[in-house]
Amino acid sequence: MSDTHWDFDSIGGSVTTLDQALANPAAVNAQVAQVLTESVGDAPVIDVPEDDHVQLCGGLYWDGELLTRAQVRELTGEDEEALARVKGSQARWMSVLLERTVIRVGDEPASPKLIRKLLIGDRDELVIGVRVATFGKTISARNVQCPHCEEHFDAEVDLTKIERLRLENPESKHQYEVELRNGRKALVRLPDGAAQEAIFEQDDATIPERNSALLGGCLVKVWSGDVQDARIGKELAKSLSVADRQQILRFISETQPGPLLDRIRFSHEGCGREVRLTLTMPELFLGD
Ligand SMILES: [Zn+2]
Repeated sequence: MSDTHWDFDSIGGSVTTLDQALANPAAVNAQVAQVLTESVGDAPVIDVPEDDHVQLCGGLYWDGELLTRAQVRELTGEDEEALARVKGSQARWMSVLLERTVIRVGDEPASPKLIRKLLIGDRDELVIGVRVATFGKTISARNVQCPHCEEHFDAEVDLTKIERLRLENPESKHQYEVELRNGRKALVRLPDGAAQEAIFEQDDATIPERNSALLGGCLVKVWSGDVQDARIGKELAKSLSVADRQQILRFISETQPGPLLDRIRFSHEGCGREVRLTLTMPELFLGD
């Protein structure tokens, strides 16, 4: 987490329905960050076109084809009402938002099934796309305190300039071999919307339980030589050693693409030094 934070009370937003609906701003990305504790290296900056088209960071395999662009629309009052009624985790809230506002991915019309297949970083990217289509690309952070000179100031963040991590080898079909201990190997797929929802299915789950849910959704198989472990999903995840689980979680964290919302950087004009911000999903929909 960054040293500074958005000041919720002083952001002059008029959008209160979504805000109230999201009573827990701890947010998916903070919780996912807990699950995926390792941080990744610096990523290239990629500009997003400033319209209703979104360039995905990972893309979606659909009928054997990799779809890398999507079209979204702005939020309406009807969407706002529907979102305020969503029960359950914020992952579920994101699914409902995307089911309503994503028009197509590639040439494929959006559907709930398709939305659940999107990588979690691409889901973040699409939520940003809806935000840009609804309120524009600039977010104002009011009354941020500089951690260096302690001065309070207002800052503007351009959502199209946030750093993004992009998949270098999409031909892998989002599946990767990870070396485990004792010569074992795991075939791992990057987490999608379905895995994201599974992580937060149970409200009071512990971190190891969330890890098992995440790993259960990502483990394709585990094998040693010619022998494949017969277990699947969460049972397979629970049978792995703690070290192997950490190894796989670290790999996922380092590999999964998407906008780095927990690593927004800009320089404070007052003292010229770098200030970092973390942006959560609900904050994207606070009006200016
Ligand atoms: Zn400063």
